[in-house]
Amino acid sequence: MSVLSCTDLRVVIGSKTILSGVSLSIEVGRITVIVGPNGAGKSTLLACLAGLRAPTSGSVALEEAALSQLNPRARARRIAFLPQTSEIAWSVEARTLVELGRIPFIGARGQSAEDRAAVDRAMAAAHVEAFEHRIVDTLSGGERARVLIARALAGEPEWLLADEPLTGLDPAHQLDAAALFRRLADQGVGVILTLHDLSLALRLADRIVVLADGGILADEPPATALTPEVLKRAYGVEATLTQGPGGPLIDVIRRV
Ligand code: ADP
Ligand code: MG
Repeated sequence: MSVLSCTDLRVVIGSKTILSGVSLSIEVGRITVIVGPNGAGKSTLLACLAGLRAPTSGSVALEEAALSQLNPRARARRIAFLPQTSEIAWSVEARTLVELGRIPFIGARGQSAEDRAAVDRAMAAAHVEAFEHRIVDTLSGGERARVLIARALAGEPEWLLADEPLTGLDPAHQLDAAALFRRLADQGVGVILTLHDLSLALRLADRIVVLADGGILADEPPATALTPEVLKRAYGVEATLTQGPGGPLIDVIRRV
């Protein structure tokens, strides 16, 4: 079983320590959700795990191999990264954008039938077939976010790392995207997400990593991760956990 791990990760930018002492071992076939306050280091950690940012010290490994030893093309075939911003600078058709997700596979002869079929599957999974020929900068934010999910899926990666992929989606499309992540995990993909919505995190995650001040505050199954004590220490708020009809709900009461 494939494992993505980091050991004693430390990231220092200028004089600021962004992450320190972060060790994780994450298995495929599960959804791991990273939560934590603004500036906790979630995006930095995700970029390190994707091999897109080199830590100041410590290591990231995919199975037994250090990520830094995989060439970028080999790494990109296995780990798809979906950045936080849904800004797309180019006026291209949605399908063209999704096709970019096949770049790590495309040989000298250009797109194969298999590449086209993978793009079709990714667009169907993210429910964006209807926008195939729309220019991406005419899509709504939520539609664009789904096209970017399709681009990440086009490479049929073993790992999908997505930074706040549900932000900006309406509730129905949040549910769709959540169901899609669950389906991917059930198919054996390692899904690692950062999320801001704690109730959604509880409903979606198999494992929750709480990051605060660049370190891991909790790393637990959802049932035990977000205790009032952890929420207080991480976010500085008093909050309670209740059961709603759709699953667990975090009710934030006040700052403490
Ligand atoms: P999060 O995603 O949890 O909000 P980030 O990983 O984006 O946190 O950032 C963590 C901290 O690192 C923040 O204080 C941010 O300002 C700082 N930071 C991130 N990237 C840089 C950078 N390139 N230069 C300086 N500070 C940075
Ligand atoms: Mg972030």
